Amino acid sequence: MATDLYTLLGITQAASAADIDRAHRRLSRRYHPGINPGDQVAAAMYRQIQNAYQILIDADRRRQYDLGVVTVRTAPADSAVAFEGFDFSSVAEGQLAATFSELFADVFEHAAREATTPTSGADIELELTMPFLDAARGAEVPLSVTRQERCPTCGGAGRIARPAGSCPVCHGEGTRRWARGHMVFTKTCEACEGTGRLAAERCRPCAGVGTTARTEVVTLPIPAGLESGARVAVPGRGHAGARGGPTGDLYVTVRVADHPYFRRAGRDLELRLPVGIHEAALGADVDVPTLDGPARLRIPPGTASGDRLCVKGRGVRAADPSRGRAGDLIVEIAIVLPNDLDDEARALLAAFGKRHPAVAERQRLFEGA
Ligand SMILES: [Zn+2]
Ligand SMILES: [Zn+2]
Repeated sequence: MATDLYTLLGITQAASAADIDRAHRRLSRRYHPGINPGDQVAAAMYRQIQNAYQILIDADRRRQYDLGVVTVRTAPADSAVAFEGFDFSSVAEGQLAATFSELFADVFEHAAREATTPTSGADIELELTMPFLDAARGAEVPLSVTRQERCPTCGGAGRIARPAGSCPVCHGEGTRRWARGHMVFTKTCEACEGTGRLAAERCRPCAGVGTTARTEVVTLPIPAGLESGARVAVPGRGHAGARGGPTGDLYVTVRVADHPYFRRAGRDLELRLPVGIHEAALGADVDVPTLDGPARLRIPPGTASGDRLCVKGRGVRAADPSRGRAGDLIVEIAIVLPNDLDDEARALLAAFGKRHPAVAERQRLFEGA
């Protein structure tokens, strides 16, 4: 059964050259061997489409065809396509056969256009546990961060301009030429739009994204008195934006580790201080540790376990002095009872015990009962 060339291209006899071009392009795209590898049916279709196009796009040959001078038969899929002694196999490689890049030029162009839209870089969220004293005093913490950085090869654009003469279709000439008989036809190269060079090429190192991963050390500024759970921002240290878009920020949520002696209560620093019986009873001046060296603390005579004494201004400093004064060091007295006494110490304590007011106080409990 004869297949009408117009039917094959899905057009009518009234089709214009532009209609034929469009149909040829659309169908070639569908049946191109490059996207149907090993598909014999598609290959045969592709050859038929090229042939139909070659006849219909040529005004003389189209007129002849319309007059019924040539006909084309549908060939079985697995046999060679025959057409009035015409060798179809050469048609696909013929001068009018569309190259793969030509057929998909507008698709590539669309993808390239999409891929040129800059997008903002993502923020990076990290968690960090830091020593108690560093958080209280303030510190600069070096942090290893793997970021997407602007690609050094393409400068973040994701594309690299191709050199002049790079168009493979016209070999850089900007025009395509072919001979028909003694006639030589010339037309502007569609692949490069006559420029002889192809549009910018996707950057290989970054696959067109414009960024590459790099691990770098970011210095995280920890303000004095940072509270556990605080989120520290480092602007511009997130991922670089794709194709030149703005860079995101780095956010670090900081957990403050416990300290064996110190505890924090806002800006106040709390310390449990071991004190001897004699110091608590007689009073004493002792050194206590603070964030910045020892401080002198006066323990008044008769201080009890659990009493809280205050060393003014020796707590946590405000990172920004305009936002309030430093906290205090709160010392909680913990009287330590001796439990490993030698004979002499035991005798001394026993002698003192006879004078201890607690004995008399206890006696009064019975008088009230
Ligand atoms: Zn790149
Ligand atoms: Zn070209």
